[in-house]
Amino acid sequence: MSTVSLRDEVTDLLQRLIRVDTTNPPGNETAAAELLRDYLEANGVECELIAKVPERANLVARLKGGDGPSLLLLGHTDVVLADPAEWSVPPFSGEVRDGMVWGRGALDMKSEVAANAVAIASLVRDGFKPSGDLIFAATADEEAGAGFGLDWLCEEHPEAVRCDFAINEGGGSRVVLEDGRPIYEATVAEKMTAPFRLRVLGRSGHASMPGIADNPLVKASRLIERIAAYRPEPQLGPEVEAFLSVVLGDVPPAQEAVERLRPLSPVGAAVIEALLAPTFSPTVIAGSAKRNVIPGMCELEVDCRLLPGQHPEHVEPMIRAVLGGDIDYELEWIEARGGTRSALGTPLWRALEEWVAEADPGAQVAPLACAGFTDSHWLREAFGTVAYGFFPSTGELPAEVAASLVHSHDERIPVSDLEHALGWLRHAARAVLA
Ligand SMILES: [Zn+2]
Repeated sequence: MSTVSLRDEVTDLLQRLIRVDTTNPPGNETAAAELLRDYLEANGVECELIAKVPERANLVARLKGGDGPSLLLLGHTDVVLADPAEWSVPPFSGEVRDGMVWGRGALDMKSEVAANAVAIASLVRDGFKPSGDLIFAATADEEAGAGFGLDWLCEEHPEAVRCDFAINEGGGSRVVLEDGRPIYEATVAEKMTAPFRLRVLGRSGHASMPGIADNPLVKASRLIERIAAYRPEPQLGPEVEAFLSVVLGDVPPAQEAVERLRPLSPVGAAVIEALLAPTFSPTVIAGSAKRNVIPGMCELEVDCRLLPGQHPEHVEPMIRAVLGGDIDYELEWIEARGGTRSALGTPLWRALEEWVAEADPGAQVAPLACAGFTDSHWLREAFGTVAYGFFPSTGELPAEVAASLVHSHDERIPVSDLEHALGWLRHAARAVLA
């Protein structure tokens, strides 16, 4: 099968997937799962729909192999809301214009779903005999995370998605450094989202006589300033060290990393800055329900992202030291999610380096952690899976433009990226399941 027809095949499948409106909520991912099932079954790939509720099915397809390690190609079929008034084309049209497929999900992430499906279908047609199972999962409900997607599968149907290696979204941008060297970013870890709530205590009273009360909003403002001024000690995790050694050729002390990177990649410097330390951003505050009443308590929510491997109990003493002992408050962690990492130097990592060297001579792969989180953390937590985010782009659409289109209007992907990434997925399966 020539690559020209594979390019047409993945483009057509992506167009058809975009035309299925899977805006979450409500999702209605079953329509996308059925479209994929029809395509895969026509190509001789076994698959099943697994659903917690009928309208939100996950699809799992499997090419059975020997008892070697297994590889999962993972993608979610839901998308976020699109307001047609903001778009240059109808957001569910899947129109091809200027060599790009336009529509909601073109980047996040029906493109990778379509490429995963074509990768497994084309390998089956080629007669590929894997040494371990090649699995493709197109899951529901990643964007809202209400418990119908991969988290539910890991919990209720672990045999369907258990895997040794996985390829997911969240990486693959091709960026050209200021010195002309191309770099592909591969996401191998994620920060933990660990927001907390501060209840700042005061004494209520009539707002016309502030002297008789003790206003907790005023006290909260002092805490907000302390949080904003706080600069935690930077530290280098293994991903950041590996990134620096690829980009700079050596690993500087954590304090110098950002300044050393800035001339080569201003965007990279900003990304790395967020990966050197936990971050604390106060985002929500609630006080009195009435303007003329000074409340007895004020609640402040702080968005907090910890480094992979860090947990709330590690940073709480640090936070309390920053807040000081002169203001009465209670601290409560709201949740702690993600914060997992996968090792480098695995067979999947070697496959990635090999593919980049072949597909784009002179380019290198640099690992990164993701400041947010993806479904990869469910696999790492449930099965110890080595999961990387890697869906390589050609750079035809610059990485910063692509990043600005995700969850925004005029989302689109070059057809050349679909073909490029499909080449990677087919290579990864052949290399890891040889
Ligand atoms: Zn996504």
